[in-house]
Amino acid sequence: MKSFPAFLLIQGKACLVVGGGSVAARKIIPLSKAGANVTVVSPELHNDIKAMLEDGKIHYKQRTFQPDDLENTAIAIAATDDVVLNQSIAEAAKARNIPINVVNDPDAGTFIMPSIVERDPVTIAVSSGGASPVLSRLLRARLETMIPGNFGKLASLVAQFRQRAIDTFPVIQQRRRFWEKILQGQVAELLFAGQERRAEALLQHQFDKHDSLASDLGEVYLVGGGPGDPDLLTFRALRLMQQADVVLYDRLVAPAIVDLVNKDAERIYVGKARSNHSLPQQEINQRLVDLAKEGKRVLRLKGGDPFIFGRGGEEIDLLAENHIPFQVVPGITAANGCSSYAGIPLTHRDYAQSCLFITGHLKDGTTELNWPALVQPGQTLAVYMGTHGVDILSRELIKHGMSPDTPIAIIQQGTTEMQQVYVDALENLPDMPDRFDVKPPSMIIIGEVVKLRQQLAWFEENTTATD
Ligand code: SAH
Repeated sequence: MKSFPAFLLIQGKACLVVGGGSVAARKIIPLSKAGANVTVVSPELHNDIKAMLEDGKIHYKQRTFQPDDLENTAIAIAATDDVVLNQSIAEAAKARNIPINVVNDPDAGTFIMPSIVERDPVTIAVSSGGASPVLSRLLRARLETMIPGNFGKLASLVAQFRQRAIDTFPVIQQRRRFWEKILQGQVAELLFAGQERRAEALLQHQFDKHDSLASDLGEVYLVGGGPGDPDLLTFRALRLMQQADVVLYDRLVAPAIVDLVNKDAERIYVGKARSNHSLPQQEINQRLVDLAKEGKRVLRLKGGDPFIFGRGGEEIDLLAENHIPFQVVPGITAANGCSSYAGIPLTHRDYAQSCLFITGHLKDGTTELNWPALVQPGQTLAVYMGTHGVDILSRELIKHGMSPDTPIAIIQQGTTEMQQVYVDALENLPDMPDRFDVKPPSMIIIGEVVKLRQQLAWFEENTTATD
């Protein structure tokens, strides 16, 4: 270990920053957040520092550095763009035993400033020992994605209950087990979802009945798994996937995404081919209720977004009726995923001012849509579940006034490695599924925006002959 990690308590202490540019600004911000009394010495100031000065957050000496500036300073930072000046500041500080950091020259000073991940009051500091600031920044970015934004609130909540925990669980192992359970369980999830009052009430409840650690009721997470590419999952989706005790998933959820679910979780496949529901919807709804009543954390993983043609509403209806706690995590819906990965913007100033998400497969199996509303100028249609009704779709749209040569695209297995995009005119839509042997899942985008794909396609390597 090249350096000794430590966190300085510098609240109210005088800190000197020499330099007034953007690099200095980046150093002043954390000092100021930690409550330091910062003085900046520099002939000129970057706008960000000026703003801090105007807000009364810092003091300012408008001139070049003089060794006297170091008097009564707890720590100093040399952040000018003059290497020689920085070194002389460092020498002056070292002569007075004042800890000094020199930007971009870690060895010239006596301390280095780490990359930080802030989840106040939790702070994570990363250092590569000066080897590569970029590497520390990348590591920091990775931590940022892994640690929920509200993580700090969890720390604050726990802090409030520290004494209570000591009183309730005098044996340290017992106490540790209790906290482990809390910090990885529903209390934490509620907090991460911004439901602070519920989290606190639940924690209180856990203390009140400390002899039984598990809460009576489980919880259901209705999670959107996105259109296929696992990278499109949200942070929250991934976290809940890793915590679940049991997962119910359907056919639409890509195998690469199911693979990311906690390996110990029980997996229940609930199918749903277009007309061949392997578990009737009502049974799925009931299953969610039953599992949660067993105290389990139930992940209901859906393709795309749960509230877009996903029956998410129906599933949580029964949960609400049974007072089962649940949360809904949005996912990237197929229309968004497919449009991005096919290079077809759904709206565009020149071609489309609105976009409709429609289903080509209605509840009773017919395709009855409000055709006149669909045939509007400057409007894109994103048709889910439409490949089986292509002849009706094409015929009715043309009958209601849409031009037969309106460009359309069928996007198959969008956002995955298997993605294929077939482009043609609306009048040629009916035979496209057979002509291209289109496989599910696939959706249709209809409108002038489809033309943009010619310039904007970026994802698939093998574009099709019709493009
Ligand atoms: N809740 C999902 C939609 C469920 S309906 C969502 O928000 O995306 C199922 C339909 O979505 C499929 O018939 C297909 O039209 C579309 N779909 C889902 N994933 C897709 C994908 N990766 N590529 C193309 N279409 C997709």
